[in-house]
Amino acid sequence: MRVVVAIDGPAAAGKSTVAKLVAKQLGYTYIDTGAMYRAFTWYCMEKGLDCQNHDECIKLIDEVTIKLKADGTVLCNDIDITRAIREPRVSSNVSYIASYKEIRLFLVDQQRLMAKEGSVIMDGRDIGTYVLPDADVKIFQIASVETRAIRRYDENISKGIPCTLDEIREDVRKRDYIDSHRDFAPLKCAEDAITLDTSDMSIEEVVNAIIDIINKKISEKK
Ligand code: C5P
Repeated sequence: MRVVVAIDGPAAAGKSTVAKLVAKQLGYTYIDTGAMYRAFTWYCMEKGLDCQNHDECIKLIDEVTIKLKADGTVLCNDIDITRAIREPRVSSNVSYIASYKEIRLFLVDQQRLMAKEGSVIMDGRDIGTYVLPDADVKIFQIASVETRAIRRYDENISKGIPCTLDEIREDVRKRDYIDSHRDFAPLKCAEDAITLDTSDMSIEEVVNAIIDIINKKISEKK
């Protein structure tokens, strides 16, 4: 049976960490939609554009090709930008790019195509509400701002990406605000999603909770 899982939630809630582990354990394909918005942002910055300039940024749609490889490598026009898209300069601009409807439609088309093959687990902000409204399982993963900021800070430091905790806390707050206030496909919990507050949960506990939810849904469908 093909299973489609949507995980949404605010910035740095640990969605991609757990989605990757769940995908590995269940043999599903993991699709990181945030990496696609980051890749587009990286490209705009590479071209020297101001990411708050809608008209200039949307002109690049015709020249951007983004590929997510199975091993997690992210390519933009065949350049490996896996590490570059995690840098604070990209994080602090990505929500502007993600608020442009034209860019969202361009990336959502690709996300829907990627979700067509086999069982998938896709994470983002609008997966359960807009990209895959018929997903079999919808999870809205949340955690307190402080927990999320500390998790992302630790993750960046372990990857060798320089940052401060204050900078990360501000970035998380700013992105959540812009992502949830944009007009088109904003960050919000789908009506039929299960909310999972992971503030006091370990990664393993979150992974197990999500696998339990998926298994329950599968047995209900049989
Ligand atoms: O998931 P991640 O934090 O890497 O996403 C980076 C940014 O991409 C988010 O803050 C948001 O602005 C945008 N995004 C989005 N819709 C998605 C996934 C990400 O708007 N489905």
